[in-house]
Amino acid sequence: MADTALLDPDEPKPVILDNEAGRSVFFLTCDHAGRGIPRRLGQLGLPESETRRHIALDIGIGEVGRQLSQQLDATVVLQTYSRLVIDCNRDPNVPSSIPEISETTEIPGNRRLTEAARAARIDAIFRPYHDTIAAALDRRGAEGRTTVLVALHSFTPVFKGVARPWHAAVLYNRDPRLARSLFELLSAGDGLIVGDNEPYAVSDLTDYTVPVHGERRGLPYVEIEIRQDQIAEPLGQREWAERLTRLLPAAYAEFLRR
Ligand SMILES: [Zn+2]
Repeated sequence: MADTALLDPDEPKPVILDNEAGRSVFFLTCDHAGRGIPRRLGQLGLPESETRRHIALDIGIGEVGRQLSQQLDATVVLQTYSRLVIDCNRDPNVPSSIPEISETTEIPGNRRLTEAARAARIDAIFRPYHDTIAAALDRRGAEGRTTVLVALHSFTPVFKGVARPWHAAVLYNRDPRLARSLFELLSAGDGLIVGDNEPYAVSDLTDYTVPVHGERRGLPYVEIEIRQDQIAEPLGQREWAERLTRLLPAAYAEFLRR
């Protein structure tokens, strides 16, 4: 298979697993933390500017995730490649897994992909990322450790010309319990406008990490979305990491009481 490998040995690994020994019950994921594009894909035919926009990554969330990991002493898993290469929060069988168009930008390098080209992206990026999460969760399970999955994302302030009023949002699918507790805490302080399953909701078609790693295992979970203008700079990243360091444990304590 070496001749079809997508990543050269000197390129970044597709997944970072950090602070696995951290003692927190929280297990953090950042599916869209990276903007890397494998050398062999030649920037997907995009100008550099497009690979820095929200279509390529969740701006700011990797920094928030790393700080949160430190402050909570929690494990964090980060994807290092752009979601334009393959979206690690989609089932690889859905069309938006490797988008031919994102917002209004056409992605030339994703047009008319062969099955082999799709498989190469799944094998090189999607699978190692999710295998790493699954293996880490298996190890926690084997050790009898409690795990609460926190899927971290960020969203663009303006999408297709429409401004989003929410500073942040909590998303959920079948189990809203932890999300509700966090929603109440976030809404109660700092004058924040918090989305309740908007601008996105979690579903089996539009998500992968929460349905597969959270719901199938029966873990408590919440997906958090932060508007990108809040966390584009270090000050906002610090503020959000500190806020979630306070509120996630409080939300989980409330979840346990209910
Ligand atoms: Zn995302």
